[in-house]
Amino acid sequence: MSNNTLENLICPGKEGDVVLLGFPHDEGVAINGGRPGAKSGPEKFRFWLNKYDTVENSRTESDISNLKIADAGDISPDISLEEAHSELTSRTGEILQSGSIPFVVGGSNDQSYPNASALLDRTSGQVGVINIDAHLDVRPLKKGRAHSGSPFRLLMEDRRFSGNHFVEFASQENQCSCEHAQFVLNNNGCIYWLDAIRQRDNVIDSFRSALNRLTEECQSIFVSFDLDSIAGSDAPGVSCPGEIGLSTEEATAIAYHAGKHPAVDLFDLSEYNPAIEEERTGRLAVAIFYHFCIGYLERTQK
Ligand code: MN
Repeated sequence: MSNNTLENLICPGKEGDVVLLGFPHDEGVAINGGRPGAKSGPEKFRFWLNKYDTVENSRTESDISNLKIADAGDISPDISLEEAHSELTSRTGEILQSGSIPFVVGGSNDQSYPNASALLDRTSGQVGVINIDAHLDVRPLKKGRAHSGSPFRLLMEDRRFSGNHFVEFASQENQCSCEHAQFVLNNNGCIYWLDAIRQRDNVIDSFRSALNRLTEECQSIFVSFDLDSIAGSDAPGVSCPGEIGLSTEEATAIAYHAGKHPAVDLFDLSEYNPAIEEERTGRLAVAIFYHFCIGYLERTQK
């Protein structure tokens, strides 16, 4: 085993196999009536990244030091939410343009529409999107402003995007209104309710089948992961914790399969809120990044 930590492998820059980008904004949570704190997510994510010292995987013998991982830094912190969204679209776009995969760490979930927009700008074919989230996040804007509950409504209303290429994954019916579920279905989106997945199949196989179904028509896929999709006992440090949710093992396996799938060009991780709980959730957020990288390593070896 080497003594490398993940952080020691990461070079500043916007080109690599996987490129980190931070979105240190949480006004979108406040607008949606939630608790602030997620703006410190990127900073604390990097802190716990430095503690993650397993770079070589002892069982699979895969070694993340074979990947080039870069850190493009953060979106400017002291600007308005709307300016931050615009900077995010442009900087995520630059990373995509260089042929790298952006891994964007929030910050509030409103980051997902600017991220999707960057991918829509740069893909000539169809884009597919999977939102792993307890919530559907298709609420209307509030006083004309985007917020943490609205990113996928903006996506569904974007003419560059086709609603039948949208999957809501691990949604929880006790946290989603019938009106919003109907909005997704009326726009030809698909909802994989967590309870239904568990009854029918298993979470990981369902996620892989959602990915494969999208690739029948889509050239490029964005996987968006809200940490509140994980049970509150495992991920308490999120803006809106729920009791029920994915297990840690399911969350990391989803990240692994997203990393491994050749059509996944963009991944974002939202709602890590260190003001509510820092260490357990921070370590889990980093484990999701690690498993994405292990999956990506296998993608490149095939
Ligand atoms: Mn969300």
